[in-house]
Amino acid sequence: KKYLEECSERKKLYNEVIELKGNIRVFCRCRPLKQDEIAKGSTSVVDFDSSQENELQIICSDSSRKQFKFDHVFRPEDDQEAVFIQTLPIVTSVLDGYNVCIFAYGQTGTGKTYTMEGTPENRGVNYRTLEELFRISKERSSIFRYELFVSMLEVYNEKIRDLLVDSSKEPAKKLEIKQSAEGTQEVPGLVEARVYGTDEVWGLLKSGSQVRSVGSTNANELSSRSHCLLRVTVVAENVINGQRTRSHLWLVDLAGSERVGRIEVEGERLKESQFINKSLSALGDVISALASKTSHVPYRNSKLTHMLQSSLGKFS
Ligand code: ADP
Repeated sequence: KKYLEECSERKKLYNEVIELKGNIRVFCRCRPLKQDEIAKGSTSVVDFDSSQENELQIICSDSSRKQFKFDHVFRPEDDQEAVFIQTLPIVTSVLDGYNVCIFAYGQTGTGKTYTMEGTPENRGVNYRTLEELFRISKERSSIFRYELFVSMLEVYNEKIRDLLVDSSKEPAKKLEIKQSAEGTQEVPGLVEARVYGTDEVWGLLKSGSQVRSVGSTNANELSSRSHCLLRVTVVAENVINGQRTRSHLWLVDLAGSERVGRIEVEGERLKESQFINKSLSALGDVISALASKTSHVPYRNSKLTHMLQSSLGKFS
């Protein structure tokens, strides 16, 4: 009983913070210059004021400076752990029954995949999140029985592709978004792999990334032209009162946000760019509508926003 009181107090506090700060947070991460950039003599165009943790300055070509404010700014020396610590309260709230969504947004080469996936030596938000979810669920096992499931998919040219299905072995299923009886958006037929530990998760993430690059001549190029989504589904059963919740955490590595002009590309590349531009502006429209609390939120303008509707709009 004491625990349930604590839990409801925590939810109250959480909702008060949301009320105060809004339920959308924007972090900015500046990556360090790469070796080849240093070799070419490139210099950084960003600067920081040591006393302002959430501010960033852009040095313009005429040496004037423009200031930008975020909820938090990560500097080039900030490592994967520093980024994860800031996202921790957001991602772990999925265990309390909230639907959550994290996006990595930026141009190709800015560090989205590094931040979300990372490398075996420097694992990113995706892996660290699951590690933490397993840790907390074990810690709370006398009160909650948790089941964790992982799905991995990509949206390419407005088509959904299951990355946990090896298309060289099985024919790809046509995946569409359907509304469930509870009014949430689901993707029937999408593989939901039950996971018990981090080794298994790492294996799944690796095989998903391999499936993603099949059929492409340049894996990096392809990955910058599709949105890659990792969905963690948490089913929690309260062993005291038998109450069950099912919530989703979406970890999204968006397609590159660079605008590709009509003159530069044609054919397949032009079509891809149009789909990317359309879905990223649809996401921008949804976020603006949510931030300004307008009554109509245009979720259905893209597969991405439609699929994430229940995690972007309201809290369960
Ligand atoms: P994107 O997914 O936005 O196209 P990547 O994540 O592939 O970009 O990053 C581009 C390159 O920069 C990669 O070689 C990656 O390892 C490196 N990189 C990105 N961010 C960092 C960082 N914070 N620290 C060190 N290297 C980084």
